Amino acid sequence: MAEGGASHRHSIPAEAELRLLAEYCTDVIARVGADMTFSYISPSAERMFRRPVSEIVGQPVREFVFPEDLPIIAAATARLVAGEVDSSTITVRAIRGDGTLLWVEVTSRPIGDYTLGQPGDRAVVMRDVTERKALEDQLTAMATKDGLTGLANRRSFDEALAREWRRTVREMAQMSLLLLDLDHFKGFNDAYGHLVGDDCLRAVAAALQGLTLGPGDLIARYGGEEIAIILVQADAQGAATVAERARVAIEALALPHEATSVPGRVVTASIGAATAVVRTGVSAGMPQALLAAADRALYQAKAGGRNRVETALILAAPD
Ligand code: GH3
Ligand code: MG
Ligand code: MG
Repeated sequence: MAEGGASHRHSIPAEAELRLLAEYCTDVIARVGADMTFSYISPSAERMFRRPVSEIVGQPVREFVFPEDLPIIAAATARLVAGEVDSSTITVRAIRGDGTLLWVEVTSRPIGDYTLGQPGDRAVVMRDVTERKALEDQLTAMATKDGLTGLANRRSFDEALAREWRRTVREMAQMSLLLLDLDHFKGFNDAYGHLVGDDCLRAVAAALQGLTLGPGDLIARYGGEEIAIILVQADAQGAATVAERARVAIEALALPHEATSVPGRVVTASIGAATAVVRTGVSAGMPQALLAAADRALYQAKAGGRNRVETALILAAPD
């Protein structure tokens, strides 16, 4: 089988060819030692990291990683060293020579046999996935945001309400929920057309986003022209204050509305504000009870002449 042997030898690239591949390949190949420094990095690193190879070799990996992402690397390394996995792929942000960041997918695999628990050298392949990551982020935003208004969508509202309810009950705290419904909006659409109605919804959403709310509070499009606001820490007083600010912010847009019964003939909203307080000795409630209370308050605000805030209070049992 002399011929086979010859062709086999021929298929092994010469050192020069390997160097050429390492240089022109868009991925970066590196060798990382047990001390977490680069002992080798391929020339393509210069394009990806905008630094000369000489500034990378011999340097600790952490110098090139966005500090927030260092724990991701530590966790992956620990799993490799423990022998839980024989290769690991993670995505972290790397720092370029010019200070800009890029998303890098890093696949590491131990070189040779690891003695379990003893870190050794690793072969590492790095790929720039910044574009893919931006696309993923865009998709995530699309899955959680309402397309018309940019507010949180119904699904993220339902999740946030359930989560905040559990936290409120656990911490024996309180939370509030505002339900907001535009007044005579059917008449608005009839008078000005559905597209102008959509513009109005966007303007209302922007006005609400301009309110300074607490961290963790969420404004969501609950349905058609109904908006829900979760106030994670607010007591009844706080909820009533935010509700009134929201009502004023919408009225202040001064969008003409000839088909409304509200004096002033501008677009307005009625708001139901409900607060849940945890007390011992009462029967356990559900987040749906808070929604129902806000809905009843909203109905009262409509019945009372619209463009107003009504409040409600419910009690919930502790965990
Ligand atoms: P009320 O003051 O009692 O709330 O009167 P209303 O006419 O607003 O009654 P309701 O809230 O039941 O009607 C909601 C209307 O909102 C119906 C629909 O025409 C309109 N609407 C719902 N979603 C949209 C939307 O995405 N765009 C537009 N332009 N209109 C919508
Ligand atoms: Mg409605
Ligand atoms: Mg309405």
